[in-house]
Amino acid sequence: MEQLQNLIGGELRGAINGEWLDNIEPATGKVYSQIPRSTAADVALAVQAAEKAFPSWSTVAFADRAACLRRWAEKIARHSEALIHAESKDNGKPISLAAAVDIPRAQKNLEFFAGAIEHFASEAHIPADSSHIHYTHRKPLGIVGCISPWNLPLYLFTWKIAPAIAAGNCVIAKPSEITPFSAFMLSQWAEEAGIPKGVFNVVHGLGNEAGQAIVEHPQIKAISFTGGTATGAHIAQTTAPQFKKLSLELGGKNPAIIFADCDFDKALATTIRSSFANQGQICLCSSRILIEDSIYDRFKTALVEKVKRMQVGDPAEKGTKMGAVVSQAHRDKILHSVEKAKEAGGQILCGGYAATPPNERCNSGFFVQPTVIDGLGPKCAINQEEVFGPVITLQRFRDESHAIALANDSMYGLAATIWTQDIGKAHRTASSIESGIAWINCWLVRDLRTPFGGVKSSGLGREGGFEALRFFTEPQNVCLPTHAN
Ligand code: NDP
Repeated sequence: MEQLQNLIGGELRGAINGEWLDNIEPATGKVYSQIPRSTAADVALAVQAAEKAFPSWSTVAFADRAACLRRWAEKIARHSEALIHAESKDNGKPISLAAAVDIPRAQKNLEFFAGAIEHFASEAHIPADSSHIHYTHRKPLGIVGCISPWNLPLYLFTWKIAPAIAAGNCVIAKPSEITPFSAFMLSQWAEEAGIPKGVFNVVHGLGNEAGQAIVEHPQIKAISFTGGTATGAHIAQTTAPQFKKLSLELGGKNPAIIFADCDFDKALATTIRSSFANQGQICLCSSRILIEDSIYDRFKTALVEKVKRMQVGDPAEKGTKMGAVVSQAHRDKILHSVEKAKEAGGQILCGGYAATPPNERCNSGFFVQPTVIDGLGPKCAINQEEVFGPVITLQRFRDESHAIALANDSMYGLAATIWTQDIGKAHRTASSIESGIAWINCWLVRDLRTPFGGVKSSGLGREGGFEALRFFTEPQNVCLPTHAN
């Protein structure tokens, strides 16, 4: 059985304690590899390696850092077939999705931040009398921790490590223990890409062991974390007394607002995609579908008819659109949320059960039939708590202000989609919604320069573009007189 390795100080190695954790393929339910069960001792070793590497890496020219990232991106391109299959096997997502989204975007993240660091200029301020010059010197923080989740493994892993490394930091990264494979592959190519030993370290293991050790380590100056809101709150509590910089990208309960004057077919097709892509396991997926009264029945009927036809299948097969959810525990959690919704009086319009794809290989895998629930109000658990699976609810609204009130009736505020052909209404609704992103008549259109993040319990801070480079640097104001005394 393949044993994945940590990367510490340029060396691929197991955990110091010699312990291993099983890695399971969600589509089959079978163990197919193992990862090191790292602890605080491994994190301490990685920090030592990073401390050694930092003085030199932090002074490497921007163009040379960019060249390393570009060479690393080329490795992703060269090995993209292998990465696509690895990501699909590790996560349960269809290979078509890994090929269209995850792996190309991971490559793009490295290329994008290579370019971004070359264009990242500091500000200077000169008063009206020109007596002084103030300039901002943005220095790398030192050693930073990057902790990423399982839903878009390499995509979100590279989204964090690329700006951190580009800005001159040394990184201790931990991928989710459930989806470690693609990060391991990437770590094997770091040296060939020219990343010096100790600049990029990967410590595999459990969140509450290896992850917690990263968060607690006093030499780690910042934590960039994407994951659940409860874990984010725990990290905020742990790091507050150390005054660490924090970037938290957390959960969501995203509304899709369907006004009666929308382009019906486009709204329907995109809402199905925004609800069920990656089995609903994207933080930006729609989970509360809010529909205007006058088209409620028509939209509901058309939606349910299409969702009923969606089939789960073996993620390794080319034609599969709906793969496995990430683990047995996650499947059970999703189904438990559906049961609670039923008990609260929700009507299951379709789905609501563990599905089995026709492929025998997948008999013991973790699959959930796409589920649509009707008849529950905004305060119900299913409309308040993140399910993070292929489960959506429908709610009816009277008018614009009712739609906005329903959309904002949530502790979360990550993303929203708005469907209307009235441009004024679209802008008004977008600006009234408490969310980090509002998509009008589209979904998941991303430009890596834009600020990415959530409000309320969906997070703290912004990633993307120069926001990420600002996060991974500390600004110092330097002031000097322009005239000799
Ligand atoms: P978790 O919060 O369970 O875990 C995220 C990462 O944190 C994993 O690597 C995990 O390790 C680690 N971790 C867990 N406990 C600790 C700890 N005490 N200290 C440090 N690290 C820890 O989230 P999931 O992996 O379940 O991811 C799903 C969540 O991520 C959803 O809520 C989703 O909304 C959110 N998400 C948010 C996005 C955004 O941009 N806002 C994007 C994508 C997902 P391990 O897996 O080993 O336990």
